[in-house]
Amino acid sequence: MINVPEIFGENVFNENVMREKLPKEVFKKLMKTIELGASLDVSIANVVANAMKDWAVDKGATHYTHWFQPMTGVTAEKHDSFISPTAGGNVIMSFSGKELIQGEPDASSFPSGGLRATFEARGYTAWDPSSYAFVKDGTLYIPTAFCSYTGEVLDKKTPLLRSMDAISKQACRILKLFGKNVERVTTTVGPEQEYFLVDKKYYDQRKDLIFTGRTLFGAMSPKGQEMDDHYFGTIKPRVAAFMADLDEELWKYGILAKTKHNEVAPAQHEIAPIFSTTNTATDNNQLVMDVAKKVALQHGMVCLLHEKPFDGVNGSGKHNNWSMSTNQGENLLNPGNDPKENAQFMLILTAVISAVDKYAKLMRISVASAGNDHRLGANEAPPAIVSVFLGDELQSIVDDIIAGTHTAGTGSAKIQLGVTTLPVFSKDNTDRNRTSPFAFTGNRFEFRMPGSSQNIACINMMLNTAVADVFKRYADELEGAEDFDAALNALVKRELTAHQRVIFNGNGYDDNWVAEAEKRGLPNLKSTPEALACYDEFVDVFEGTGVLSETELLSRKEILLEEYAKLIKIESRTMVDMAKKDILPAVGSYTKELSEIACNKKQLGLDAALEIKELEKLSALASDTYDKIEALSAAIAGAGAVEGVQEAADYQHDTVIPAMEQLRTVADELEVNTAAKYWPFPAYDKLLFGVNC
Ligand code: ADP
Ligand code: MG
Repeated sequence: MINVPEIFGENVFNENVMREKLPKEVFKKLMKTIELGASLDVSIANVVANAMKDWAVDKGATHYTHWFQPMTGVTAEKHDSFISPTAGGNVIMSFSGKELIQGEPDASSFPSGGLRATFEARGYTAWDPSSYAFVKDGTLYIPTAFCSYTGEVLDKKTPLLRSMDAISKQACRILKLFGKNVERVTTTVGPEQEYFLVDKKYYDQRKDLIFTGRTLFGAMSPKGQEMDDHYFGTIKPRVAAFMADLDEELWKYGILAKTKHNEVAPAQHEIAPIFSTTNTATDNNQLVMDVAKKVALQHGMVCLLHEKPFDGVNGSGKHNNWSMSTNQGENLLNPGNDPKENAQFMLILTAVISAVDKYAKLMRISVASAGNDHRLGANEAPPAIVSVFLGDELQSIVDDIIAGTHTAGTGSAKIQLGVTTLPVFSKDNTDRNRTSPFAFTGNRFEFRMPGSSQNIACINMMLNTAVADVFKRYADELEGAEDFDAALNALVKRELTAHQRVIFNGNGYDDNWVAEAEKRGLPNLKSTPEALACYDEFVDVFEGTGVLSETELLSRKEILLEEYAKLIKIESRTMVDMAKKDILPAVGSYTKELSEIACNKKQLGLDAALEIKELEKLSALASDTYDKIEALSAAIAGAGAVEGVQEAADYQHDTVIPAMEQLRTVADELEVNTAAKYWPFPAYDKLLFGVNC
């Protein structure tokens, strides 16, 4: 039996370890950097590095790595050993402050969107002391940010840290208006991670899963998710064993793995940690994905993180529960108990609603990816239209503020923020709307659009930036007010009135909502290329908050567009490969068998009408498949003539994807009509129900 408190964080150089291993003064200085975001006192780096190394070596580490998050979305690492030669031909284990603070990976092959020419390979990594170092598989992992030598950011982490500074600065100004002297406000995140588990022996037979993480072909199995019997269902022993091992591993890395359950689709599951500071939550989520994949393999399974591994059943998301908290632990999205607290809450709530409306396109951009395009707008995930859910009770308060009245029947006077107590509403919102992209859930917002494979750094960076911008405008306005209460009431009323169009408490899957949203003037960016095309509209807000320069922002757009086009290219080529090399030959073999049976029957004077009918059907479908392969191949070839990154992404979306869909439709029809033993790869029944003991 494992002793959880004992193993928890055993691989992490956390606060307790630092307190124990570092001289008092050094520890204090380091904690100041960690807690308040103060810049690091370089003089302590050598001491910290040495203590870290001794601790890591005790844990069996021989190497260290600067662990960073380049624009690929996954993490990157290059391992260096601690060895240092000594006279006489021996080595000692050494690690200097310089090596801790800065690293220089050969970074020429990471996407940089034109920021750094390939010949100028020198990007550098810089230690992020606010995220704990840890030992994994014999290596000391040091979380770092990744920049070019000219100072431009090349990763997902640096802008996140900048956005955390930006929102902290403005949130502190807002709190000051309510008489609170707060040094730091951090954003908190609890990411719920969905994933699928498939048996490795089936996975290994599917090129589509291997190359793209999703099935590009596959007819639906007779059973899907229609019985709703998987959601919260009993966890199968093999999956339970995997989950237990995953928890244990994560706890050792100090990750607060808390909730696990089966999800809606067969073979789909979820793991959620207890929330933490955004940058820690980001690093932890990257580790969760990494470790889940590794542990699954140990159990003979593959963990699929793709947003849509299977057609016909739900895809996977990553619900990003988000809030803000002061360094004294006050959750700013927690409705208070007295008028003053309520007023602060209403102002902050108003700011978030306004930010989501004003920056709705940015929110959509933050979750744009080829994989996520299969979810958003399909009837299983929030639509591509960004809207906010408040729930009936909070909505009625908002309505009252806008109308300047109080709910009929309660008998109290009209709402005066800072003076009247707001009607109490249930903080534990049990009547949860699961179709809303951005739902208030009592003391936080749950952003449901992010895809399961996404790095949450970018999402939270954009969200923080949007809210920071609105906070700034509010603080500018209210700091100068002569009568604060009056100015506050006027601002909240004005802003809620202006931005109420983004609030939608109904069913997000309803087709009527699309029309209604259009009437309200809300953007509906249906695809990734369409969303990314709007990037340029946000130069001002990123520059204004100091989160990204124009060059940095536009380089990101370029990287994401390129990534999109490349992904579709890989998917389409995989389809052609599978259809030509596997599907058509398999159907050929089955056709041959059927023909032989037909001939034999005829020779014996029997009726072969059945086989002939089957043969006719198969021949027609195979011939159609062939035509669709040719059409897709032509579409793929056509991409070569397209110039410009936006145009290339648009081309993939408008021309290649429809050709892929057409090929899939006819090939899936072939699958249904071909004897199972001839079909060249495991079908959906095996993939979705193959882990059954
Ligand atoms: P559900 O599936 O019902 O939405 P879960 O329990 O799976 O809820 O996930 C809720 C997530 O929200 C958890 O990670 C939890 O720690 C997180 N959370 C709770 N409070 C906050 C907060 N103040 N800030 C950020 N995340 C929070
Ligand atoms: Mg959950």
